[in-house]
Amino acid sequence: MTTPPEVRSRIVWDYAPAPESPDHVRLRDSYGLFVDGDFRDPLDGTRVPTLNPATEEPVAEVAFAGPADLRRAVESARRAQPGWAALSALERSKYLFRIARLIQERARELAIVESLDGGKPVRESRDVDVPLAAAHFFHYAGWADKLSYGVGGRAVAPVGVAAQIVPWNFPLLMAAWKLAPALACGNTSVLKPAETTPLTALLLAEILQEAELPPGVVSIVPGDGAAGAALVREPDIDKVAFTGSTGVGKDIQAALAGRPVSLTLELGGKSANIVFEDAALDQAVEGIVNGIFFNQGHVCCAGSRLLIQESVADTVIGKLWERMGRLRVGDPLDKNTDVGAINSREQLERIQSLVSAGEEEGAVRRSIACELPERGWWFAPTVFTEVAPAHRIAVEEIFGPVVSVLTFRTQAEAIEKANNSTYGLAAGIWTDKGAKAFEVASALQAGVVWQNTYNHFDPTAAFGGYKESGFGREGGPAGLRPYLRVT
Ligand code: NDP
Repeated sequence: MTTPPEVRSRIVWDYAPAPESPDHVRLRDSYGLFVDGDFRDPLDGTRVPTLNPATEEPVAEVAFAGPADLRRAVESARRAQPGWAALSALERSKYLFRIARLIQERARELAIVESLDGGKPVRESRDVDVPLAAAHFFHYAGWADKLSYGVGGRAVAPVGVAAQIVPWNFPLLMAAWKLAPALACGNTSVLKPAETTPLTALLLAEILQEAELPPGVVSIVPGDGAAGAALVREPDIDKVAFTGSTGVGKDIQAALAGRPVSLTLELGGKSANIVFEDAALDQAVEGIVNGIFFNQGHVCCAGSRLLIQESVADTVIGKLWERMGRLRVGDPLDKNTDVGAINSREQLERIQSLVSAGEEEGAVRRSIACELPERGWWFAPTVFTEVAPAHRIAVEEIFGPVVSVLTFRTQAEAIEKANNSTYGLAAGIWTDKGAKAFEVASALQAGVVWQNTYNHFDPTAAFGGYKESGFGREGGPAGLRPYLRVT
């Protein structure tokens, strides 16, 4: 009789918790509005708590601007603008360098607060949001004395006073995208952060104070959607720069019709991430994961429509599912976390409702098994297969950790399906063939096309959309154009 093999318990090499301590972060209990160089009590606004989406606990109290507060901020920006524009370019760039250096000095604190207030993994805020925010200020500091080279050698002048509205998915980084080029070009700004994530913008206000930026050059006025709507309707602004949903973008466009106010819109997307059969498939799977699960999928250019060539679809979906099973969902302040908390209850409900629509329309849903914390807002990484191009989950922006898989047979079909969207923000192409990548990229209606990578951002590269993803570019020399009058 043979003896049964010895049963050994399987050793699981799990990560130990690696929480980033928020102990050294010193937030104020309550923040005023940053107007005319100082934090001020609201004139007709309110004060509201801002919540940690991972715990639903308040992090700090923040003043929200009312109409009189917005008027005061715009007036101070108007007063400050001629003096700021009259500074030599070298002096303006020194301020931008100083701001960049101060962001670097306070990088750890900014990363923790970004994760506390917004729910994103601290690994991302530490390695992506904060360094890129500093890089944008460094980049545009370098442009301040070369503006006319950025627009083909023509004479330039600043536009004037800019109203800038940013969303909650990259609060500090979007503030940097907006402020750095505006200031380099000699404009002043009134910036409205999103309702759910005002804190890092207010820490940036402290940095502006420390950099001794002249009063009024930048005002930071947290507020709700009504404050955003009122700001763009302020009569004494020259420029609106908005990042957010397509619906609000259209509302702003309508509000500005007939007024001499220039506008740039960076709106939603339903970007195609296209995997050809000749791609390095393991590498592609990493790119798919980064494309859709980075920042819980709260990314305007997220690769939310995954197009896979039919011959490798089963293999790629199998590998993707296996890789998804290893994603760590949970405490945003744990350095091993891959997927953090959903930014708000409203956003979670929006994701849930679109996911239910996907199931009702007949697509096959698979969400990874993971223990979600009891408090806070969470959504398990999810993949939909058997998706038809007309399904809502293939058409509408979910803005969560949910990827919809479609297949294609030929290159022409891939291009047709990728372009079959009202949006046109970004796309990814995975192939080993350089010529194919160039051919497909030039046929795609997308502002940014990545080859064999995804969600790669750089201050030197222009970012922006086609169709309902908006117009105007941010980043690089193209990002100067919206903030300059060119003669
Ligand atoms: P919004 O477009 O409502 O928010 C973006 C910014 O605009 C916020 O600062 C918001 O303030 C402000 N705002 C809201 N209403 C108005 C208005 N009428 N006029 C001027 N400014 C306004 O996006 P949501 O936060 O509601 O997200 C909804 C959907 O939009 C998401 O599910 C996602 O699909 C998409 N989205 C896309 C983003 C992108 O980067 N392209 C970013 C964020 C969202 P407040 O925060 O107070 O509402």
